Amino acid sequence: MAEIRVNRLQKNFGEFVAVKESSFTVKNGEFFCLLGPSGCGKTTTLRMIAGLELPTSGEIILGDDDVTFKRASERDIAFVFQLFALYPHMNVRANIGFPLKCDGLSRPEIRKRVEETAQILRITDLLDKPVSGLSGGDRQRVALGRAIVRKPMAFLMDEPLGALDSEFRHVMCNELRALHNRLKATTVYVTHDQLEAMSMADTIAVMNQGVIEQLGSPREIYDRPVSMFVADFIGSPSMNFLNLRTGLKAGSTSIFIDQTSVTIPAVREETAEADLVLGVRPENIFFSDSDGLPGDVFGVEYLGTTQIVTVTTGRGTVKARISSDTKAEIGDRVRLKFRPDKLSIFEKSSGRVLKSALHEGVTHG
Ligand code: ATP
Repeated sequence: MAEIRVNRLQKNFGEFVAVKESSFTVKNGEFFCLLGPSGCGKTTTLRMIAGLELPTSGEIILGDDDVTFKRASERDIAFVFQLFALYPHMNVRANIGFPLKCDGLSRPEIRKRVEETAQILRITDLLDKPVSGLSGGDRQRVALGRAIVRKPMAFLMDEPLGALDSEFRHVMCNELRALHNRLKATTVYVTHDQLEAMSMADTIAVMNQGVIEQLGSPREIYDRPVSMFVADFIGSPSMNFLNLRTGLKAGSTSIFIDQTSVTIPAVREETAEADLVLGVRPENIFFSDSDGLPGDVFGVEYLGTTQIVTVTTGRGTVKARISSDTKAEIGDRVRLKFRPDKLSIFEKSSGRVLKSALHEGVTHG
């Protein structure tokens, strides 16, 4: 297995910039997710790493080897597509062994490697069955088997679970991560599904319009988003944004919203009178009896142990995730307080976060 280094990688299609000066390192043995909405450049980035698309500029280093201009077949990388990419006329054994046959390995060696792989994936009993009769999950395992059997330097996966229904996708996420824990294979995984990325990745690169907005662990990305885009894209319900019209002095630890003082993490920057946005995640809001931002309960969504309560305030609609034991009924007058150590403040015009104690050490893309 090997590290993958991507330096200032760019891809233009005519005038259109699909990937703009992306730089990141996928460490040896790391599970790395490229995450972002449709059209943000994830697949193009992955295809350049695979050698299926030629970069306009930049470089790709696999291990110690500069592979930027090498053909796909000259890169020791396995690409996993969605389940469809199996050969329907072959059985499971032949499908998994196919890449080894192409590489010219001997029949006994192929047999040994295929059986080892089947054991890892727990599909030994399927080896002599035709792929046409397999369930979606088993087809996916066979597709993975075909990638694993080659023991490549890295795996590239492009929405491999995209065709599965959501419940089964969750099961496959757990399986993929468990497999990764066993194989420790350097993996780049493309998805638009934040839950997939959050549950599997060691590191996530959040992409937006060809640019990596933030690189970090799932926890960093969730707790310390560097921009309103990242904050909004990750989390469900997503982060609440409350508009403020106030400047801040460096070191400020409080702001006023509708005469209510709200404690914030000390900001590092001075801002002139400007439009700012306070970002707070639903689970970092609680109801207070005495003080806090006033609002009216507009909707209640019961989820078992928690409930999502929608509150209309003078600063817009806010969604709070609170314990189901807390009384909340439509029309109730409530007061909202926020967990100070979990708040982000953004500059509205640029959408970027104001640096604060909370955001120390966070990597911008
Ligand atoms: P999706 O999940 O929808 O595939 P993505 O983030 O993987 O999205 P890409 O497939 O990388 O996005 O595409 C990025 C942008 O580049 C899109 O706007 C797409 O239309 C454009 N694009 C991709 N391939 C080509 C091409 N061969 N010619 C022209 N434009 C392209």
